[in-house]
Amino acid sequence: MAVIGIMSAMHEELAAVLAAMPDEQRVQVAGRDFWVGHWQGHSVVAVLSRIGKVAAATTATVLLERFGVNNLVFTGVAGGLGSGVRVGDVVVADGFVQHDLDVSPLFPRYEVPLYGLARFDAHPALLAQLRAASGQVLADAALHLGAGTLAEFQLSAPRVHQGLVISGDRFVSTSAESHALRQALPEALAVEMEGAAVAQVCHDYGVPFAAVRTISDRADDTAHTDFRRFIREVASRYSLAILSQWLSQRAPD
Ligand code: SAH
Repeated sequence: MAVIGIMSAMHEELAAVLAAMPDEQRVQVAGRDFWVGHWQGHSVVAVLSRIGKVAAATTATVLLERFGVNNLVFTGVAGGLGSGVRVGDVVVADGFVQHDLDVSPLFPRYEVPLYGLARFDAHPALLAQLRAASGQVLADAALHLGAGTLAEFQLSAPRVHQGLVISGDRFVSTSAESHALRQALPEALAVEMEGAAVAQVCHDYGVPFAAVRTISDRADDTAHTDFRRFIREVASRYSLAILSQWLSQRAPD
């Protein structure tokens, strides 16, 4: 039986997911609240990821070990790096790299020692499903956000991108830093703080993993001024709608 883990990076996103689950029960492990229940007939365990690679890896490990999660999806926000990746767009990751991992010269830059890998791929089927759901939601963004919110945040024709997402224990908020990341990893579309860690845990356990990130800022000096409002009024609504769309199209077990 499929047990779907949903890791939300933000409280507001998790609250929206919990509001959609009719029967969730709270189980506390490792200081975290895991919410076990159902959503659209699927067995779901929802949890706040916590911020940063180690915290997110711990949360993911508990989901897999203790709750038998065998499909894991992450939602959150990220800074846009790729040209054309704008605030209000959605990035569906097809692979993850830790941009702050450097064991050179012993291993190539970014490679995780003993894995022989720098990049951990998203699960192709899960990624395709989430990409389709994201496209359906963004095609009718006004329905999910309201025309007023679209106008207020100046979101015109938001797009879905698919590509590399990079993770590190740093909130990237200067142009110098985002420029350096673009130079070092030119194929990266977005930067965040958890995805590559969770992808590595899922790789270890052989569990399908995919992630969807709403772009909240451009990882530069002009980072979004009203981050919390953007999370509440844009990102958490996208996450809820994308997850709901995805689950509604997924065959029940
Ligand atoms: N100021 C926020 C803190 C956000 S921490 C608050 O008040 O809560 C950053 C979270 O957003 C992490 O989950 C990270 O994955 C993501 N994120 C968004 N933009 C980012 C950026 N530019 N660099 C790194 N992580 C980013």
